[in-house]
Amino acid sequence: MGLSLHFVVDPQGWCCVGAIFFIWLYNTLFVPKLILFPRFEEGHISIAAIWAYYLTSIFCVISLLRASTADPGKLQDTPKIPLTEQELWELCNKCNMMRPKRSHHCSRCGHCVRRMDHHCPWINNCVGEDNHWLFLQLCFYTQLLSGYTLVLDFCHYYYFLPLKAINWDMFIFRHELALLRISTFMGIVMFGGMCSLFYTQIMGILTDTTTIEKMANCCDEISRARKPWQQTFSEVFGTRWKILWFIPFRRRQPLRVSYYFANHV
Ligand SMILES: [Zn+2]
Ligand SMILES: [Zn+2]
Repeated sequence: MGLSLHFVVDPQGWCCVGAIFFIWLYNTLFVPKLILFPRFEEGHISIAAIWAYYLTSIFCVISLLRASTADPGKLQDTPKIPLTEQELWELCNKCNMMRPKRSHHCSRCGHCVRRMDHHCPWINNCVGEDNHWLFLQLCFYTQLLSGYTLVLDFCHYYYFLPLKAINWDMFIFRHELALLRISTFMGIVMFGGMCSLFYTQIMGILTDTTTIEKMANCCDEISRARKPWQQTFSEVFGTRWKILWFIPFRRRQPLRVSYYFANHV
């Protein structure tokens, strides 16, 4: 494990990651330059607001990089199947490899992934057992950053602008306003999308159902016993400090026991 990086060769995925990175860069450059620094110089906001914005922004891009490059739970070429779990493994008919139940073969990545949730083109990686929590962290920090950006854009239009006399014909002013309107549009799209995705993901974890299982409409057929939330959280966020999964730079301690028989966390 350690620092091993996982990199999916998929030009379409690179374009999607590039688009997300562009949105991040656009807001990280223009929001401080057009709102935070000028308002700080005028004495309307404190330095803490600037630090908070940059920290949220850094945590957001780090979680994007980690989720994109983390191994989602790729099956080893010669997996060691514990004797007690042999009936819980099955053969993948696409790559002819044994895999634990709930694994899926990702046609984009070309291999099977343990407890695969879905393939996300926006991070150009599968979301599986080992990086699901990083995907959640990305959703969390993207919500924070886009929410903060929207609050700043709103304050700029309705609070800061009326405070000063403006020459409405000034080219620079109109130019800045256009840049901030684009930022507001991006903020609304990202915040709306991330809030609904985050809610769906947390509900999926609590009910122990992956996105693939939901889409296959097989929830009613799943015969697994209902697990307590502590256990489903441990499977996704790890055994140690699972409640503090959102802390940046955290490492996950995986729960390596059979999904079906695990009864401790
Ligand atoms: Zn496979
Ligand atoms: Zn994939």
